Amino acid sequence: MNYCIICRDQDKSQIIKEKLIEEISHNYNEESPQIVIAIGGDGTILRASHMYPEAIIFGIHTGHLGFYANYSVDEIDLLINDINNNTYKINQFDLLTANVLDSNGNCIIDNALNEVTIVSPLKVVSLDVYIDDIYFERFRGTGLCISTPNGSTAYNKSLNGCVIDHDLKTIQLTEIAGINSNAYRTLSSPLVLSSKRIIRLESSEALDLYVTVDHIAKQVSFKSIVLKYDNKHLKMGYHNNEDFMRRIHRTFLISKE
Ligand code: NAD
Repeated sequence: MNYCIICRDQDKSQIIKEKLIEEISHNYNEESPQIVIAIGGDGTILRASHMYPEAIIFGIHTGHLGFYANYSVDEIDLLINDINNNTYKINQFDLLTANVLDSNGNCIIDNALNEVTIVSPLKVVSLDVYIDDIYFERFRGTGLCISTPNGSTAYNKSLNGCVIDHDLKTIQLTEIAGINSNAYRTLSSPLVLSSKRIIRLESSEALDLYVTVDHIAKQVSFKSIVLKYDNKHLKMGYHNNEDFMRRIHRTFLISKE
């Protein structure tokens, strides 16, 4: 079994990394790890998930309690024991597949744990929205966010999207500063769809904008994007499964001392 560690460049994370390397009995190998330990916050876990999509990811949170990390700094011995003795369990998260077509006919495919956004910060974009190949609306504004249930508490929540129970399989479409007037009309509320639906966004002309997949942003001469679940999953290791409502409560409702 190979494993490797990804951490924030912080003294605290480096000390934890040294302890893990000393005490984990598997091979340290950054080329082809089956296990990846991400030390930091949700951003570090997102980075690990994109670097090693096939691996089992274990998160240790070093800052404020993150949403994804399943082990605290006080539980490092538990994590070492779990990895050495194979006593961990695995959660599988559905990944949202984005298939982007640019104006040169190039196709870019990536998978999101949280969300995909199509954003034009300066110029208003106009996007035709199709759901299962049926025309739905023409969106005008800054952009659109398409999120997984896990991602519903991330960027989507800041856009007043719905928080979705992780036991539900959904795909959510949320507007980013949509323009609504006599001339332009969209649904204007978050749209939560079954995970079987396929969302397609099209622009009639090539538009220079950003497509983001979790923390990764790419500038694209945009023509269209198709978003759907393609049976891709991310595996995360844990010892104690925290109830979803508790996770929401401690992340958003308990104020920091
Ligand atoms: P980061 O690590 O600083 O993360 C940004 C914040 O999002 C952190 O507070 C993190 O804990 C939180 N977060 C990430 N995933 C979450 C989830 N599933 N549920 C609840 N909170 C979550 O920055 P980054 O590395 O660039 O992370 C990328 C993520 O940041 C994106 O996937 C997006 O969801 C989020 N983001 C949020 C906004 C916003 O809320 N206005 C804007 C851009 C990006």
